Amino acid sequence: MSIKKIQIKAPGYHDMFSVSTGGLENLTVLEINEKTIVIEAPAHITATMPNVIIKSASVLTKVDALIITHSDADHIAGLDSLIWHKLFGENSRLLLITHKEVAKQLWQRISTAFETDRVDGKTPRDFDHYVEFIELKLGETTYINHLGIKIESFKRSTKHAPFLSIAFRVLQKGTLLIAYSGDTSFDPELIEFLVKGENHPVIHEVGSYTVGSTSHTHIEELLTLPKDIQARMFINHIPISLEEMIRRRIKEEKSPIRFANELKNIKMKRK
Ligand SMILES: [Zn+2]
Repeated sequence: MSIKKIQIKAPGYHDMFSVSTGGLENLTVLEINEKTIVIEAPAHITATMPNVIIKSASVLTKVDALIITHSDADHIAGLDSLIWHKLFGENSRLLLITHKEVAKQLWQRISTAFETDRVDGKTPRDFDHYVEFIELKLGETTYINHLGIKIESFKRSTKHAPFLSIAFRVLQKGTLLIAYSGDTSFDPELIEFLVKGENHPVIHEVGSYTVGSTSHTHIEELLTLPKDIQARMFINHIPISLEEMIRRRIKEEKSPIRFANELKNIKMKRK
């Protein structure tokens, strides 16, 4: 049996509203058998991805599949340029993995520029022309056989916005590779889902400026978790103005919480 190579990297851990981060907003990349599964499409995705040291079947974009959690700009601002690069640069469609409702919202946002063919100027085009869509359903497992993975979705929307936002776990051959909170206020029930099972890393957002926010999690809230759970947490979506305070609080509490970019050290080889 051939050796399967897996790498997980989160080159950036800031939120998109942080200027001067070199385009390294929250972006997480799984490389499995030389194909990439990218989580979120922040504004600079097409500039950032070629600099991430990974192997990809996509020569130009380095994105072989894309998971989107929700339709806020900081998670999808790079989507339209990514689709154009796929279409004109790679002559292919973007493999998009998300909930049906999120896919619908994405098409609504970009359809003005995309609903008519841009070469002949008249042929109507729909989302399927640009995107190969794989649907995630709340509380269900989706098998993506040609990528060798399955994705377990959390049973409900995360507590982030009036519209849907998803959280999920990625497994390869029955082994958990990573769990991803997406944007959410502090939610013990969600954390229970994310950590359940094995010792896999959990990427959790800490985007909140205040404790008790209804849309994001504050570092003080993650610091209330048991230390063994904290040890599994890799944080992202961090406002640059809070970074110093977050690093200080982690140190003061002797917390094992790490920043998402430290995931780059995780390499797994499986048979
Ligand atoms: Zn966000």
